[in-house]
Amino acid sequence: MSSFHAVAIPTEVARSVRATMKSPKYGFPAHKEVAAGRAPCRHCLELVKLHQEEAILFTMDAFYGQNVPPSPGPVYIHAKECTRYDERTGIPETYRGRLLTLEAFAAGRKLVGEVRVANGEEEAAAKILLSKAEVEYVHVRSTEAGCYLFRLERN
Ligand SMILES: [Zn+2]
Repeated sequence: MSSFHAVAIPTEVARSVRATMKSPKYGFPAHKEVAAGRAPCRHCLELVKLHQEEAILFTMDAFYGQNVPPSPGPVYIHAKECTRYDERTGIPETYRGRLLTLEAFAAGRKLVGEVRVANGEEEAAAKILLSKAEVEYVHVRSTEAGCYLFRLERN
């Protein structure tokens, strides 16, 4: 059993982007198209179905709502309404065994650790990072694309 859970982007962010087709806070135009490659939705943490479902690409601050210096980058969400990931424990199924970069942050958004994983090491690596008392949360990014995927917090 995991001692941590994954946190997806807030539903208010997904709704705002779908309604306005603009990035929250930045106002940059968002882009909508049928998924042509791997497009992980940051709201439900499932993949947007290749060649079937539409994805919206927009600029998002990975530290949204945390009142710290922002780190904007491109992310996908389903163009249609989807159900927010319910913060189950562990790394979400869709991301296991992928090339992931785990960034551990202490108070004040101080980066105190970075680990790149492959071959299913993500669960163990996250556990080690989150066992350090100074670490408040972990950001998970795609190692290949560099894009922010979701946050991990202790249960
Ligand atoms: Zn979704």
